Amino acid sequence: MKDNYKVGIIGATGMVGQRFITLLNNHPWYTIEVLAASPRSAGKAYKDAVGAKWAMDEEIPASVADMVVMDATNDVEKIAEKVDFVFCAVDMKKDEIKALEERYAKAECPVVSNNSAHRHTPDVPMIIPEINPQHIEIIPAQRERLGTKRGFIAVKSNCSLQSYLPAMAVVNMKYPIDHALVTTYQAISGAGKTFKTWPEMVDNLIPYIGGEEEKSEQEPLRIWGHIENGVIVKAESPVITCQCIRVPVLNGHTAAVFVKFKKKPTKEQLIEKLVNFKGIPQELELPSAPKQFIQYLSEDDRPQVKADVNYENGMGVSIGRLREDSMYDYKFIGLSHNTVRGAAGGAVLCAEALTAKGYIQAK
Ligand code: NAP
Repeated sequence: MKDNYKVGIIGATGMVGQRFITLLNNHPWYTIEVLAASPRSAGKAYKDAVGAKWAMDEEIPASVADMVVMDATNDVEKIAEKVDFVFCAVDMKKDEIKALEERYAKAECPVVSNNSAHRHTPDVPMIIPEINPQHIEIIPAQRERLGTKRGFIAVKSNCSLQSYLPAMAVVNMKYPIDHALVTTYQAISGAGKTFKTWPEMVDNLIPYIGGEEEKSEQEPLRIWGHIENGVIVKAESPVITCQCIRVPVLNGHTAAVFVKFKKKPTKEQLIEKLVNFKGIPQELELPSAPKQFIQYLSEDDRPQVKADVNYENGMGVSIGRLREDSMYDYKFIGLSHNTVRGAAGGAVLCAEALTAKGYIQAK
């Protein structure tokens, strides 16, 4: 494995794109070679194209501030030529995103995507590297369909899942879950917004996020699925019913979860499983992997967004308030950083797993 790969960011001016830039600045394996966005931004220096939309705490890194933004849709072949793979996070219609990502893959450029467009394409792996790294093995079947040697598409799951699915998936490995009821409390950066660009959210709560409840219920079943005859077959359980609520928080999705097990374990058994879990990212010590994937907080008032959202640089998941329930077996609260683990950071970790497994290679 080489340790220097040239990377493109498609949708570099957006909320997720900006987060990619800050996470890839000084990355040990990946160097940003191309920034691309809509024709509105193309041809401008990055700092002028992003302008007042820059929403990160840190300054725009000097290495990209003057980079000229390329046209994500009209420069596909040129971009594919310059880089070893791209990250993609764009705000376009689903069909357009599907077609755009396939154009990059067919130009022999692997795509690691934050977009939802390909999350249900049967031979596209949707990967949480700690939970279902085995789905990476579907890529040869996808390459065969696309007629490519290097190119493929891999996606990460929706940001909401990261607040409840890791804990459920880890305990489900030993103590099978029958069903669960989840309510998510989602930050405004998940919609690509800040309080400045979405002032209606100050002191407010909106009990609707378009399409989010379906994603939160269906995507876990695909994560729990298996590969059969070149496609990923969804699991039938554990089934989840979910409500998603937008709350006045900048970064950090929280979930309140009720779980019914097939056979009820003890609270101690569950906490032991959560805190001792190590997945492939931890075993391979991938650069962006949290040392500990899941922390358990025993204080009654944790996890809290302000105190815990940046746990393990935003790549870890915080769980607390695990206690018995009168209707379900247990209930607990989960928290994760939606634009780090839930978006750009999750995609970077996914790319690192794909690189370590040899699916992303330097040209
Ligand atoms: P955003 O802030 O609205 O940014 C959208 C990006 O798409 C910008 O770079 C924009 O470029 C580009 N774009 C728009 N139209 C385009 C076109 N016709 N051709 C090429 N590029 C175009 O959105 P975001 O929050 O970063 O989200 C991006 C994607 O990630 C979405 O699919 C979203 O569902 C997904 N996602 C977001 C989060 C999150 O936490 N925010 C989490 C998981 C997944 P211009 O600046 O030039 O318009």
